[in-house]
Amino acid sequence: MAVQICTCEGLDVKCKKCFGSGYINTDAPEPAIQSVPKKGTVKQESFLPEHLHSLSRKEIENIVPKIIDTLDLKSKKQMQILNSIPFNTTTFRRDFKAKFELLQKIEDEKQALRNDLDVISDALTTSKYTIAFNYGHFLSDKVMDVTSNRDLKTLIRTYKKLKK
Ligand SMILES: [Zn+2]
Repeated sequence: MAVQICTCEGLDVKCKKCFGSGYINTDAPEPAIQSVPKKGTVKQESFLPEHLHSLSRKEIENIVPKIIDTLDLKSKKQMQILNSIPFNTTTFRRDFKAKFELLQKIEDEKQALRNDLDVISDALTTSKYTIAFNYGHFLSDKVMDVTSNRDLKTLIRTYKKLKK
């Protein structure tokens, strides 16, 4: 049985396809056309309007909470995935390949959101004013190396310590 990542990435608990798990089991082989990357799916979602510099400071600041909330939600999902991986086994990379793929996909999206925040920070920072972002989740401002077991384990351990 093949496991596929759901389009909602498990962020929608009421999802009718994956029921919030983020994974869909597919018995049928994937049609060949699906392996061809579509143009639309390559482009990262961005909260930034095309003409950012024509907006007022207040209007730009109003975009920030939307980006932070999305980062926090994606971080929460990443932590759920991390906590569901048995790192004490020797075959977890092979056994939970789809989970690592999903972690990386979410991380890529988070990086695009962090880039948005950088653009906003550049737009709003003046000699008198620096913008500070307040994140709601531990992982939101952490750049995760999904390929590094040590990095992932350190993140889980640090998060658990903070929760105590
Ligand atoms: Zn889903």
